[in-house]
Amino acid sequence: MQTNVLGYPRIGSQRELKKACEAYWAGKMSLEKLQLTARQLRRQHWETLQQAGIDLIPSNDFSLYDQVLDMCLMTGAVPARFQPLLDKLVSASSPELYFAMARGYQKNGLDITAMEMTKWFDTNYHYLVPEFNAGQQFRVLSTKCVDEFKEALALGITTKPVLLGPVSFLLLGKSKDTGLHTSQLLEQLLPVYIQLLQSLQQAGATWVQLDEPCLVLDLTAGQQALYRYAYTQIGKALPSLQLMLATYFGPLQENTELALQLPVQALHIDLVRAPEQLDAILQGIPDGMLLSLGIVNGRNIWKNDYERSLQLIRQAAAAIGEERLLLASSCSLLHTPYDLDLETDEAVLTPHIKSWMAFAKQKVQELAELRQILAGDNSLLEANQACLYEKSIAAIVHKPAVKARVEALTEADATRQHPFHIRQQAQEALLQLPLFPTTTIGSFPQTAEIRQLRARLKKGDITPAEYETAIRAAIADAVKWQEGLGLDVLVHGEFERNDMVEYFGEQLEGFVFTQNGWVQSYGSRCVKPPVIYGDVQRSQPMTVAWSSYAQSLTRKPMKGMLTGPVTILQWSFVRDDQPRADTTLQIALAIRDEVAELEKAGIQVIQVDEPAIREGLPLRKARWKAYLDWAVRAFRVSVSCVKDETQVHTHMCYSEFNDIIDSIAAMDADVITIETSRSQMELLEAFAAFRYPNEIGPGVYDIHSPRVPTITEMTELLEKAAQLLPARNIWVNPDCGLKTRKWPETEQALRNMVAAAQEMRANV
Ligand code: GLN
Ligand code: ZN
Repeated sequence: MQTNVLGYPRIGSQRELKKACEAYWAGKMSLEKLQLTARQLRRQHWETLQQAGIDLIPSNDFSLYDQVLDMCLMTGAVPARFQPLLDKLVSASSPELYFAMARGYQKNGLDITAMEMTKWFDTNYHYLVPEFNAGQQFRVLSTKCVDEFKEALALGITTKPVLLGPVSFLLLGKSKDTGLHTSQLLEQLLPVYIQLLQSLQQAGATWVQLDEPCLVLDLTAGQQALYRYAYTQIGKALPSLQLMLATYFGPLQENTELALQLPVQALHIDLVRAPEQLDAILQGIPDGMLLSLGIVNGRNIWKNDYERSLQLIRQAAAAIGEERLLLASSCSLLHTPYDLDLETDEAVLTPHIKSWMAFAKQKVQELAELRQILAGDNSLLEANQACLYEKSIAAIVHKPAVKARVEALTEADATRQHPFHIRQQAQEALLQLPLFPTTTIGSFPQTAEIRQLRARLKKGDITPAEYETAIRAAIADAVKWQEGLGLDVLVHGEFERNDMVEYFGEQLEGFVFTQNGWVQSYGSRCVKPPVIYGDVQRSQPMTVAWSSYAQSLTRKPMKGMLTGPVTILQWSFVRDDQPRADTTLQIALAIRDEVAELEKAGIQVIQVDEPAIREGLPLRKARWKAYLDWAVRAFRVSVSCVKDETQVHTHMCYSEFNDIIDSIAAMDADVITIETSRSQMELLEAFAAFRYPNEIGPGVYDIHSPRVPTITEMTELLEKAAQLLPARNIWVNPDCGLKTRKWPETEQALRNMVAAAQEMRANV
């Protein structure tokens, strides 16, 4: 049985690529040095996989920024607005064009906006969205996949080049002109793919992996036809090249037959996300097609359960024979951190918890070990079983009291005392806010001084008491400042938070952190997600001291600020030994305890942010309802303990609500603040059409740029809102938190915002 890795992390175990790219962009590193760093990383990765005994070692999985952007360059899909830059460059494959497409270009008299970025399926990785125009011409503009194949070959390693397949490439892109048909685009695109594949074959490639993750999505008949057409053409043009069609992140379901009919030599399926699809695949797989079994999870940091993997392998072997199987990672290992061996600080990650984990390098080892076990090495299996058994009964993982509390949850626990219209009266009586009340989303500028405070505390340069004094001073300033501006509902500013999830994870039981567990988010940006390893519980208040201190400084209502359970789950590595829904309810109960304690401490307005609810949506529509049901329930559990007159806010920073508005309404937050400024309030139409009953704060300005909005701009938006919603229900706020902004622009923007609200009140 051969072993197969779909892709490897590329940022470098010490984030070398991030540092090199950023230095290059800042003009502090030469292009040669950047390219050398990239070459060294590729070599390291290939050699790591080779030493582990992997048979199909990926190449072209490396990228200076993003693999979809690489594909745009390889196929010449350069948006027309970059033409002036292209004209100026000596070589079209220059990284100047590449980075300009990724990051925008403001130089040499040109001002070109970057390509759009969006989430890669249901991961936290972002890719650049290809853009296609009418009259789109494709051509081989970069030969990256061939170059990297040759680079590995020169090191004596024959790799399996990985390319995003032509159909997924088109489906993930955006047609910029109406009437542009994907089938026409495909017809023009295929010759370019064929040319690339031919060059790869000429260079000596025997296997090529074509990633077609769109095969796990709901496809129309037309989209399915694209697959038939594309792969028939490719198969005809390259009869002797072995193609592996890679699918991941979900089951093929009704696309199973389609995938099995395509003229490819191997199919890769994700058996971590969708083990249930194995039966159907084994039944339908044509003679001669190889099957790559994705059994080692590329999406988390836990050790593989060998016993379970072996069951799947044995089932497949019994059906089609060992010689037709490959043992593989479920998807690219891009979504896991590099190397668990780098976690050396036992105070950060205890050896106990560490013994349950596997990062990319260890996962590669797991594939090799599975093959050894199949060859008869039972000691490896026994060691794995012992480790997993120990974890399954570990007292730090399983807390009966937490599980019992989740079990005991009732409908009443997820329901406020009275319906919204009654709560609204109680809240109006208590809070005495004007019409069009003004507020902000929570954070204020995280200045260098604030960030240094945290760094100095960590290093031990200042004491916790000194840190607290300094943060309190920042809060006191922010309160005075907000009163001066005339805001109605104040915030403490979130100065004490490094990150809206990490801050809570650090204080909750069941979470652990890593020193080097970085994964790429986009380009040079990496995140280090918290790890949820056990039952989650809150052992002490997390925000009450800061919020009550802030409230003690003002007579205006001070908002308590919490992150919601779905967002905490979504931005962490999660457990693989219980459903996500259960983990989320545990977090919800922890947040609920904090909500109750904030209320007891006299906080009258409490905001529970859920910016990640939408991104948690399953890839298939048929699964949406089940997800939304538990996600909404978790939110409701976290806030429903409060009295009618305590006002619950939530915040979501995006603007696509149309298809989930009933679930948003079911969350039953008294006030929801959302992003609308960039869509010119269009989004509110969905809320109005739905007759959304609760209060809404449609963001009146975009915080993602330093630009200061004018008063008129904002009153115009508010007037639009007032045509769609009852004035009594409208709040006035920016569209997200202000932590990335600077103070001067924040002050001017909020001053104008308060003026806009005052104008609205005067005109009622
Ligand atoms: N309360 C958070 C803040 O203001 C919300 C951040 C977010 O929406 N992502 O920073
Ligand atoms: Zn936001």
